[in-house]
Amino acid sequence: MFPVSRICMEDPKAEDSDEEEPSTLNEFGNVHLDKPFSAPGVKRGLSSSSSVHELLECPICTNSMYPPIYQCPNGHTLCSNCKLRVHNQCPTCRHDLGNIRCLALEKVAGSLELPCKHQAMGCLGIFLYYEKLKHEQSCKFRPYNCPYAGSECPITGDTQMIITHLRNDHKVDMHDGCTFNHRYVKANPHEVENATWMLTVFNCFGQHFCLHFEAFVLEMAPVYMAFLRFMGEDDEAKKFCYSLEVGGNGRKLLWQGVPRSIRDGHKKVRNNHDGLIIHRNMALSFSGGNHQELKLRITGRIWKEE
Ligand SMILES: [Zn+2]
Ligand SMILES: [Zn+2]
Ligand SMILES: [Zn+2]
Ligand SMILES: [Zn+2]
Repeated sequence: MFPVSRICMEDPKAEDSDEEEPSTLNEFGNVHLDKPFSAPGVKRGLSSSSSVHELLECPICTNSMYPPIYQCPNGHTLCSNCKLRVHNQCPTCRHDLGNIRCLALEKVAGSLELPCKHQAMGCLGIFLYYEKLKHEQSCKFRPYNCPYAGSECPITGDTQMIITHLRNDHKVDMHDGCTFNHRYVKANPHEVENATWMLTVFNCFGQHFCLHFEAFVLEMAPVYMAFLRFMGEDDEAKKFCYSLEVGGNGRKLLWQGVPRSIRDGHKKVRNNHDGLIIHRNMALSFSGGNHQELKLRITGRIWKEE
């Protein structure tokens, strides 16, 4: 992460990235931080402040330092977390540390303006040093986690990277269009714990949606749950609606919902019961036959709310 943010800061061609990915900016309509900050004066300020920024990196843990910033009597700085760990001895010169704050550095930090560390992903925001971290934690350009459930996948990236990763590494089915008709077949539906994790990606309205189908135990009862997640931010997700329908044997269940952003983990969606929940007995009844095999046909549609 740190090398990336440094490359971004010193990249004199930062404006080129605007032209490479205009769609990203348009999708997340409210990127209004770019204009006031793209003045040439601000850019000059940035390159000269990058060395100060390096001074604000804790030499011990390499994290950015925030007040209280400490120093030893010889002037070696360190962050408050590291100070707690080093048993009152300066890690650089071994001198006793004491409790000396480095107020000058804290004040210089307060006057610094730096670009968001997700600049390379398209964020054009410039932030005061002490406000940057808070912004970065909710920045719309921060990478998404892999939405594939059932494995603790460490991959993160923008939506295009995630889609490529889902297709290539998780062998996820990709479909174009806003209607779907899916069959879920399972020979032994009595294995519920982590038994069924299925994900399909739909491409429609120029966006991508993940259809999840999961099996788990809800309030002591085994259930199946189908729900849709939007590969983008929550405010964009809310512009869409979807419906799911499952039935058989003269019975039918319908669900209409709003897709959740993939920022919301699938466990959160599950805990909120925000999807089509089918109790196993009902699912087996829908499957017909001898109640031994699960054979569900789920149809659905995604549309845009005007
Ligand atoms: Zn530190
Ligand atoms: Zn020292
Ligand atoms: Zn940002
Ligand atoms: Zn993954």
